[in-house]
Amino acid sequence: MKKSKQFKPKKVQGNRVFNRNTSTERSKLYDQTWQIYRYRFLHYNKRCYACGSEEKLHVDHLLPHKGDVDLFKKLNNHIPLCDRCHGQVTTLFDRFKIPRQEEKLKWLHDKRAECGVVSSVKVLTRYGR
Ligand SMILES: [Zn+2]
Repeated sequence: MKKSKQFKPKKVQGNRVFNRNTSTERSKLYDQTWQIYRYRFLHYNKRCYACGSEEKLHVDHLLPHKGDVDLFKKLNNHIPLCDRCHGQVTTLFDRFKIPRQEEKLKWLHDKRAECGVVSSVKVLTRYGR
């Protein structure tokens, strides 16, 4: 059987395939607009979606954006996660080239059940201010 060539998208200007992006390019997404949005989001979402904790909340991208701007800003792709849960989903599911999405959703579901969390995510109506 012939081995299929590995898919290696090129980084093209204006293209949103960023598999070869640098951490600098990705960090550009976390600009002031994001900071403002993050602040607003956490004003309405004060508890970890997974465990219910109110400590050190992050805005997690449910589907990891991997540098994709649309996925980064997509309003219903954001969930509040505490530092602990955020670290766990990143390590266990998000950091892979192909994120382990189904497993992540199952983990979140099980964690919520375990911690008795029933709150849902308040999705904001716009990105930014
Ligand atoms: Zn948590």
